[in-house]
Formats: sequence, C-alpha cells, structure tokens
Amino acid sequence: MYILVINVGSSSVKFTLYSREHMRPTANGQIDRIGLEAATVHYRSGKGERIFPGADIADINDGVNLISELLTDPQAGVIASEHEITVVGHRVVHGGEKMKAAVLIDEEVKSTIRACFDLAPLHNPANLKGIEASEERFPRALQVAVFDTAFHSTLPDNAYLYALPHELYETDKIRRYGFHGTSHCYVSRRAAETLGRPLRDLKIVTCHLGNGCSITAVDGGRSVDTTMGFTPLEGLPMGTRCGDIDPAILLYLMRQRDLSVDQLETLLNQESGFLGLGGIGTSDMRDIEAAMLEGDPGARRVIDVFAYRIKKFIGAYAFAMGGLDSVVFTAGIGENSPLIRERVCAGLEDYGIVVDEDRNHRPGGSIREIQHQGGRVRILVIPTDEEKEIASQALELVSGAT
Ligand code: ADP
Repeated sequence: MYILVINVGSSSVKFTLYSREHMRPTANGQIDRIGLEAATVHYRSGKGERIFPGADIADINDGVNLISELLTDPQAGVIASEHEITVVGHRVVHGGEKMKAAVLIDEEVKSTIRACFDLAPLHNPANLKGIEASEERFPRALQVAVFDTAFHSTLPDNAYLYALPHELYETDKIRRYGFHGTSHCYVSRRAAETLGRPLRDLKIVTCHLGNGCSITAVDGGRSVDTTMGFTPLEGLPMGTRCGDIDPAILLYLMRQRDLSVDQLETLLNQESGFLGLGGIGTSDMRDIEAAMLEGDPGARRVIDVFAYRIKKFIGAYAFAMGGLDSVVFTAGIGENSPLIRERVCAGLEDYGIVVDEDRNHRPGGSIREIQHQGGRVRILVIPTDEEKEIASQALELVSGAT
C-alpha cells in the first residue's frame, strides 16, 4: 500500500509516492507550466529518470491523471494499479484558525479551505483544485489535508495578536498565522532525534531560509512565535519579498508616488527582498554570494541585512522562550550556505553560539552539527522534507482507518 503526496501550486504540481512499509520515496516528480503552451514533466523512480518537455497539460486534472499514468506505466511505473494508493496527502497553505492538525477531507474541510481563499489567493484555490482532481482520480483513497498554518496553531495570543483595534481580529480574523509550518515541524522533530533528547524538553529556533524565509521559536515541540504573519510577507527579507517594514511606508508611497494597491502589492512581493535591495538583477542567493566575493556593494548589502535580521530574530526568540538549546538551519540557503550560517552566528560566543569553521564547510546532504567543540547551543543543519512530513502526518491520521 502506498501514500501519494501532492503539492499543487498555481501552475505546477509536485508529487512523491511513499510505500507505507518503509516511508521512503518510491517515485517522485514535478509538472511545471500547467495550462501554458509547453508544460514540462520530470519523473524519477528506481527505474531511472524521465523528462518530457513540451507536454500538453491543460489543467490540474490533466496533471493528476498524468501522475497516475506515470506511476502505473508498465515501463516507468512502480505500482500495478492506482488502487494501491490508499492515502493521498495534500499540502494546503492556509487553514485559518480552524485547522490545527492534519484532517481527513470532507465537504466541511473543503469549505474551510474555500473560506481561506482571500487569505491565500495564490495557493488555496490551487490546493483545492488538486484535492478535487485527486478525489476524482483516486476515489478509493483517503484524502488528507496537511496545512502549512497548522503547526502554528499553538501560538499564544500575545504572539499572534497585532496591536490593531481588536474588532479587526474578531471580525476579519486579522492575526499572525505563520507559514512553512510543515517544514518547521519536520526539522524540529529531526533536531530532537539528533540531539537524543525529547522534543518536549527542548527550546529550538528553526530557520527556514529558501526563496521564502521564516524563523520559528519551538518550545517543547510547540510553535510559540514565528516571523511570517497574516501573510507570508512579514518577517525576514526573502528572494523578492520585503519582510518587515514600517507600514507607514505604504501610506507615504500612496500619497507621494500615487501608487495603487496593485502596484504596492507587486513592489512588496515581487520587486523587493534580495532582488530589490541588491539591485543586481537576481534574487538567487548563489549569484548574490558570488557577486559579493567579487566586491559588488549591492550583494554585500543583501548579505549584511539578511544575516543581521536572522540574528536579531534568533536573539528575540531565545529571550521569548527563556532559553535556547539549538538553532536549526534548513531549506536552500540554510542547508547550503556556510557564509550565511557563519555571518548569522558571528559574535555570539557569550551566548554559547559558536560555529566551527571546518564543520560548517563540510559538504551537505544529510543532518549535521556545526557548532564548535564546547559551544553550548547545538547548531544543526537539517535538510527539510515537507513531503515526508505530510506523508507521516497523513499516515498517523489514518492509521487504523484503513
Ligand atoms: P523554495 O523556497 O522555492 O523551496 P529553496 O528552499 O530551494 O526555495 O531555496 C532557494 C534558495 O536557496 C535560492 O536563493 C538559492 O540561491 C539558495 N541556494 C541553493 N543552493 C545554495 C548554495 N549552495 N549557496 C547559497 N544559496 C543557495
């Protein structure tokens, strides 16, 4: 029996098939440019890798049908029939206040996902389409939703409330929700295993640094604060997103530059962050690091601001939790950039945070500790695996039900 994990974006779908026995991926792949002229399909299994450029995939339904055909293909496939897939786990970005854990999908869950369309307009409609396509294609399987926001449902009100008129929380549910929850949950569990201590005894700061970036304070396994807020725009600077700014800047730009809501949205989400601050035409940290090493001042700006903001949040969260056992770095930048890790941790010896240069530069790919001998705070680099976390949570939920 197998679990299929589906992660649907606005024009893409990623999928991974796990066998229930050993929870290792049996096959995975990605379809990009769905609905555009030439979609591309990448598919990998123990039987090799296949790439189909220029495929004709009109919508998510076509995408999900193709996934099923690939998995059961006599040559490339890994299962004899799609009925072997007994559980489908779906990544859903926003579950609002209602969704506190993984759930079996029914009409009520779908209407909650729909009710959150305004809160996650780029993601939730696509996520729901993926669910409906999967219900149609895999009618015998249990469909499970795993929400990005759910891990943060434990935030206390002092962390999730904004100091706006309280009525805005009560009527419009304007509050911090937090995102990347599946990743923060996964790496904090792995951190506890690596440290050989129960999660309930640990105070961990998890830094998810990819194209999107967020930091979470995990106290005893519960998220108690996180940098992303009402939307994934708050907190750290990211590839193209600005992160925290004074909200009065928006008012200034509306008055002085006559910018519209749409223009502001584009400015803050797509033209800011590493791209805007650096001004060197890239949001890719690899390019920015390379430019910095060649002395580019824009690239240096990005790295200085980014590392400083991360350091500031780690400090804030250590104080908020009243202690710190471990700092975890994950996602594209967190897992692969010794430079950012070193900059973030520099000058924190008095707080027990000391990076070992050799360990920090060792090649990655698996979990590793990079603190200097004697450093009190354990500094971990942990490859994130949101798909595996979704599969585990889905399996945990349905155990006994199938
Ligand atoms: P997403 O949020 O889209 O899943 P990823 O987690 O893959 O993104 O992270 C993408 C980011 O990771 C990019 O900025 C990329 O440049 C950066 N990155 C990947 N490899 C390295 C590396 N070796 N050094 C520095 N940055 C890296």
